[in-house]
Amino acid sequence: MDILVEQNLQSVRRQMELACLASGRKPDEVKLLLATKTVPVDKLEQAMQAGETLFGENKAQELRSKFPLMQQYGQVEWHFIGHLQTNKVKDVIKYVTLIHSVDRLKLGQALHQQLRNEHKTMDILVQINTSYEESKFGVLPEAALELVEQLSQFDSLNIKGLMTIGKLGARRDETRDCFRLLKQLQMQIKAKELPRVEMGILSMGMSGDYTVAIEEGATIIRVGTNVFGQRYLPDGYYWNEDVRGG
Ligand SMILES: *Cc1c(COP(=O)(O)O)cnc(C)c1O
Repeated sequence: MDILVEQNLQSVRRQMELACLASGRKPDEVKLLLATKTVPVDKLEQAMQAGETLFGENKAQELRSKFPLMQQYGQVEWHFIGHLQTNKVKDVIKYVTLIHSVDRLKLGQALHQQLRNEHKTMDILVQINTSYEESKFGVLPEAALELVEQLSQFDSLNIKGLMTIGKLGARRDETRDCFRLLKQLQMQIKAKELPRVEMGILSMGMSGDYTVAIEEGATIIRVGTNVFGQRYLPDGYYWNEDVRGG
């Protein structure tokens, strides 16, 4: 069955608008990032033709294979949203303008080293495990400030905000608590006025919970399934530490 990417996009865009209206926010405060893991390039092309320009990948290898194909169609911006292994840093920084998933000092060090060698800088978000689920990456909320302080020593990294994956399959109020926690951490960290730490971006909300995330202050939502249909691989394949590859 063909997936109606354009219609799905219209519906997501409409829901975004309604959620903004309902919470007194301006629709242009929230960006839609399309999460494209496992999605073939022809579907991405359909999204581009519908006017979408912001895409996110979870694995270095998939990013590398899609990037040149997509460049043929026009100018799009890529973010990295998956678990990033230090040995993939060199590859990933070639393609993306923002890394959502910096969650440990070692990764910050690896990024800084490579960026310095290339005389480059990179915008990053710090990923927080707001649901305390073991299957999720991200620094625990109580360790977030310390990690941001440590990362702020690296002058090649611009810390633009925070990212989280809300509790999945949970009651709406539990998911909302995750997003509220991220917002609180944003305010706490911002108040410290650390060098190169801006905290303007909150990346939170996926297909099942993006309207809640918008109500709680998301500035980037990351949507895959609602636009491209169900994936064949379970998300654990992308989120668990013990998987191989990318
Ligand atoms: C897959 C993924 C998404 C999108 O999830 P959907 O439920 O398909 O919308 C968002 N964020 C991350 C980090 C992902 O891996």
